[in-house]
Amino acid sequence: MKKHSWRISLHGGHSSAYCDHADDPLDTLVSAAVEAGFHTYGITEHAPRFRNEDLYAEELELGWTVETLLSQFEAYAAELDRLVQTHAHHLHLLKGFEAEVIPAESYKEKMLHLKNTLNFDYMVGSVHYVHEISIDYTQAHFEDALDRCGGLEKLAQAYYEHVQIMVEDLKPDIVGHFDLIRKLAGPAAELESPDVLRAAENALETIRETGCIVDVNTSPLRKGAPYPYPSPVFMKMIRHKNIPLSFGDDSHAAAHVGAGLPEARKYLLDHGIRLITNLVRVGGRIEKECIPLL
Ligand SMILES: [Zn+2]
Ligand SMILES: [Zn+2]
Repeated sequence: MKKHSWRISLHGGHSSAYCDHADDPLDTLVSAAVEAGFHTYGITEHAPRFRNEDLYAEELELGWTVETLLSQFEAYAAELDRLVQTHAHHLHLLKGFEAEVIPAESYKEKMLHLKNTLNFDYMVGSVHYVHEISIDYTQAHFEDALDRCGGLEKLAQAYYEHVQIMVEDLKPDIVGHFDLIRKLAGPAAELESPDVLRAAENALETIRETGCIVDVNTSPLRKGAPYPYPSPVFMKMIRHKNIPLSFGDDSHAAAHVGAGLPEARKYLLDHGIRLITNLVRVGGRIEKECIPLL
């Protein structure tokens, strides 16, 4: 069988009808993926949130409620089912979603319920909240999280502990943006202190044992950062542990589709990584497939 192209993305495709902070409709993003020559494109809209206090200010201004989020998410799953069929002849389109870790006491059951009842191909497990406070949304929320944890080093440590617990709870196919904690922290030595690196390595060990793929997420590149997630310090651990990697453009607009992918490929090659791992739907089941980067 002919090997597929490394042009894949398994995390992204956030779209305007289902996500308040995305810019283009879902069919436009899918058309952009076809035009960009993707072999596989995985769409992973954000899971709904289940408590009104977790809605963003922009969502409240739009008059949205938790019921709005859930019905939009169900409509998303149905539209994606249709798009998978209509594009089947030229794009391996996968139906996924990006899980949340809130509410802390019930996210596990809620996310697994969504995956099963709406018949998703796969799940990206992401941590956007530490102790239920958002860490990637506004600087004000990030400051709250810093106060709650007692500074950046403690927050980063808690973040990786949350990643480890999320992996144990959800066993996601893919772990999204492994070091997202760096997004609002800026360059800071605390992010690579011995305690933080130990917590991150523990999370990576659980990822390895669970068989998850780590998302090489290109969103920092389009915002001017020198490398994608995960940072070089984690690439060494990932290579040492032989953890599989996939690409994710984390697109929230058609212009983001495929952005940063060639740079991310070079980044992996520079770290001695020669294979990318894809997900393929075979007879209704999802299997891993390794694709050479060269
Ligand atoms: Zn988003
Ligand atoms: Zn995310």
